[in-house]
Amino acid sequence: MSETELKPSVDMETLVSLCKRRGFIFQSSEIYGGLAGAWDYGPLGVEMKNNVKRAWWRANVQERDDMVGLDAAILMHPEVWRASGHLDTFTDPMVDCRNCKSRFREDELDSDVCPNCGERGTFTEPRMFNLMLRTFVGPVQDDAATVYLRPETAAGIFVNFENVLTTTRRKLPFGVGQIGKSFRNEITPRNFIFRTREFEQMEIEYFCHPEESLRLHDQWMRDRMAWYERFGMKRDRLRLRAHAQEELSHYSRGTSDVEYYFPIGWAELEGIAHRGDFDLTQHAKFSGKELSYFDEERKEHVVPHVIEPSLGVDRCTLAFLADSYAEETDDKGEKRVVLRLHPAIAPIKVAVLPLSRNEKLTPAARDIYARLRKHWMVQYDDAQSIGRRYRRQDEIGTPLCVTVDFQTVEDDNAVTIRERDSMAQVRVPIEGLAGALRERLPDVI
Ligand code: ATP
Repeated sequence: MSETELKPSVDMETLVSLCKRRGFIFQSSEIYGGLAGAWDYGPLGVEMKNNVKRAWWRANVQERDDMVGLDAAILMHPEVWRASGHLDTFTDPMVDCRNCKSRFREDELDSDVCPNCGERGTFTEPRMFNLMLRTFVGPVQDDAATVYLRPETAAGIFVNFENVLTTTRRKLPFGVGQIGKSFRNEITPRNFIFRTREFEQMEIEYFCHPEESLRLHDQWMRDRMAWYERFGMKRDRLRLRAHAQEELSHYSRGTSDVEYYFPIGWAELEGIAHRGDFDLTQHAKFSGKELSYFDEERKEHVVPHVIEPSLGVDRCTLAFLADSYAEETDDKGEKRVVLRLHPAIAPIKVAVLPLSRNEKLTPAARDIYARLRKHWMVQYDDAQSIGRRYRRQDEIGTPLCVTVDFQTVEDDNAVTIRERDSMAQVRVPIEGLAGALRERLPDVI
């Protein structure tokens, strides 16, 4: 399909309403009217988000022998942000409309017409606004006690470079992966969980010899694109876009964004930056500690170059939700909404459904439910017709349903497995049920 023919599979409003109705994502502090730029993950949302993180960790840390993990603190010494440049340059230009008092990021405006009230020429001069959220440590709230909620997780990796190097005895190239919360006082948080003030990131800092850095940057772009495809994202809704020279940060030797075709159109999903030796050099300068690597073969000290694939957990969850959404009409003319999530990402792997709420069926179905729960997240549902229960599971992306009927208890000690995507049904003995389900749940651990 050419890019011009692409249509979003779902609009944002439909997705937000599904997420709320089914318990994926709620507005933060909703009963108090909500807080802009913050969202809560409900019972299904937390499962799905954990699965996204697990899929990332597994491919980028567990399965690679050149990667290790880290979990650094959110609060860091304030000098870190001076060294990294965030205190001076992590700013967005902010303008206000004098007429309706709405606030915008100047770089996101197309013209001098206010998108809210339609008046022309009412914007104030842009003011640079630092995006870091501040708080205080200790009992005295003064400048000396000011600390920042980290605006990215990367810094925690850079300041631990020496610790990781000496404790793991790594040779170049090697990388450190980290997942954790980040905070940015975004001027205009919007588009659901696409841009929020509190969010999670999954970041890799990959340290390599300067001579190998361009090749490894290319390799990371290929690896990251392969990850999205492995977990079922549609290839035609993903693209790599290299930053133009004028978009690059002063230290960057090249950045490419992985863009996804969101309900709002093409937008950044992940950044894959070549950061050169900027970060280690800066932190060495500000901390007074040497942050370099001794190359045994060449007998020389080098400051490694860094490749940084950086992905937002929430933005990635949004992409998986939008990508998997489909509305279909079956042969009886009935509409079904289905999330065709990869089994590894789906919040619930299996639903156990007795054909009806009957005293003969319930014990057998409950027993199966109890056994399967030891392996995966499983739901039990016996309310309403079996058809409606299938639809309910389709709508939350459950790949497999297990139906317990009278034949099960009276005759063959077997159950029916029903597949979400094909809606095909097969009968399998209870004895081999866990194995039969596992075969149908690729890449699920
Ligand atoms: P933008 O230009 O959209 O503000 P950025 O280029 O500043 O984003 P990075 O600093 O490269 O973003 O952050 C890496 C990743 O972290 C982004 O690709 C995105 O997935 C995620 N991310 C960044 N800011 C936010 C946010 N406010 N809300 C949700 N996710 C975010």
